Amino acid sequence: MSRILLKGGQVVTVDATNTLHAVADILVERGRIAAIAPQIAPPADAEVIDLSGHIVLPGFVDTHRHSWQTGIRGVAADWSLLDYVRGIRMGYARAYRPEDVYISVLVGLLEALDSGITTLCDFCHIMNSPAHADAALAAVRDAGMRTRLHYGFYDVPLSQPAFIDHAARLADAERLVRQFGTTVGLSELGVALTEAKLVSPVETAAEIGFARRHGLPITAHMGTLSTPDAVARLGADGLLGPDILHVHCNFSSDDELKMIRDSGGAVSCTPETELQMAMGFPVIGRLMALGMAPSLGIDIVSDYSGDMFSQMRIGLQVERALRNEPALRAGKMPGSISPGVREGLRFATVNGAAAMNRSSEFGSLGIGKQADIIALRQDGLHFMPPAPAVPAIVLQARASDVDFVMVGGALRKRNGRLIGHDMARLRATMLATQAHLTASLEHRDDAATATSTGRAYASAIEDIVAS
Ligand SMILES: [Zn+2]
Repeated sequence: MSRILLKGGQVVTVDATNTLHAVADILVERGRIAAIAPQIAPPADAEVIDLSGHIVLPGFVDTHRHSWQTGIRGVAADWSLLDYVRGIRMGYARAYRPEDVYISVLVGLLEALDSGITTLCDFCHIMNSPAHADAALAAVRDAGMRTRLHYGFYDVPLSQPAFIDHAARLADAERLVRQFGTTVGLSELGVALTEAKLVSPVETAAEIGFARRHGLPITAHMGTLSTPDAVARLGADGLLGPDILHVHCNFSSDDELKMIRDSGGAVSCTPETELQMAMGFPVIGRLMALGMAPSLGIDIVSDYSGDMFSQMRIGLQVERALRNEPALRAGKMPGSISPGVREGLRFATVNGAAAMNRSSEFGSLGIGKQADIIALRQDGLHFMPPAPAVPAIVLQARASDVDFVMVGGALRKRNGRLIGHDMARLRATMLATQAHLTASLEHRDDAATATSTGRAYASAIEDIVAS
C-alpha cells in the first residue's frame, strides 16, 4: 500500500521551531510525509493506523555503533579501555567467523530498530576476510533499517590474516563497491578509518582517498588519549572535510573542534563509553559553545544497553552536571540548569541526521521528509499520569514503550512487535555464536601480541595506562 494514515497521535516534530501537535494525523505517501494536520480525511486507498494515546516522533539516529559486538553482549561491563582493547579488539575480534558477524550485526540492528532507532552508523571494524564483509552487508540488507555500513580497515591481529597488507583491505572494500554499489536499499556504504596510531599517515590518506574517490562518507575515532591531536594531524595534512563524522573527540582542543566545524564535519558523542572507559567527559557542551550540534552514539552493547533513551539521558545529565560545577566550586547553587530536554531530544534525532549530512531527509517530521516515524505507548505506570511529551521522551520513557516503528514508509514494528523476523531462530543462532566466541576467548593464545598490529596497539595503549 503506497499510502498510510497515522491517526490521532501527539506529534513531536523536532523541526526547527520544535513544533508540537497535541493531536495530529500524518499522511505517508510513497515513503515520505505528505501532510501533518489535526484532522486528515483518509484517502480511499490508504491504510489507517490508530496511534491515539501515543507520542509520535522522528526515529532516533545513532551516529556510532559497533553492532558486531552484539555477540559478546555485556562482557565489558566492568572493563577499562585497556581491558577492552586487549579483550575485544585483540581478543574476541580474532574469533569471529563470518556467520558470527552476520548474526551479531543483524540482531544488533534489530535491537536498535526495536527501540526506535531508525538510522544507524555502523562502524564495522571486523572485516577479517572478504566473507566477513559480505556477511556484514547481508545483515544490513536483512535488517531493513537505514544503516550506513562503514567498512573498517582495522587490521584485527590474526595469526593467519586473510589480507596480506593494508592495500589488500582497500582492494576488498573496492570489490564490495563494485559488486553492490554504494547504496543497498535504504542503506549505504561508508568507510571507517583505522585509528591514527595504528597506521602510517600515508595509509590514513589512502583510506580517505578511497572513500572520496567513491563518494563514501567517512567516520573515525578521534581525539582519544592515545592520539589526542588526531584532528590537528588530519588538518595539517589537508584531509578534513564535511564527509567526516568524528567520534569521541574528548581530548581534542577547542581549536581542533573549530577545525571540524569549519571543515563542515560533525561529532558523535558516546556518553556511556566515554564515562566508563576514562575517555574524558563528552564534548556536548564544548560543541554547543562553538555553535555545533552534538549527536549521540551507543557505541557498544558489549558494555551496556543498546537504546537511545539511556544515552540521551546520560548525555544530558552529564552536561548539566558539568555546567553546574563552576557554581558549586564557588560554594553556590546554580540558579537554573541547562541544556533543556528539547536539546536532549535534538541530540538523538535531528542532530544525528545533520551529522550524517542528511537533515533535509530525516531526523525530524515535516512535509517531504522520509517517513522515519516511531510511536511510544503511554499505558505503563511510569506514564500515570503522563508527563508533557518532550520530558516524557527524554527522561521518562523506556525502550519497551516503543510500540510502532516505520522506516522510509515501511512498517517495521507494530503493536509492540517487530515485523518479519523469527525471534526463536535469531535467539538460537545468537546463542550458538555467543558460545563459540566465549569458548574461543577462553582458549586464546598470545597471537595478538605476536603480530605487528597487535604489538602496535598494545604499546599505544599500555604506554598511557596509569599503574
Ligand atoms: Zn567506537
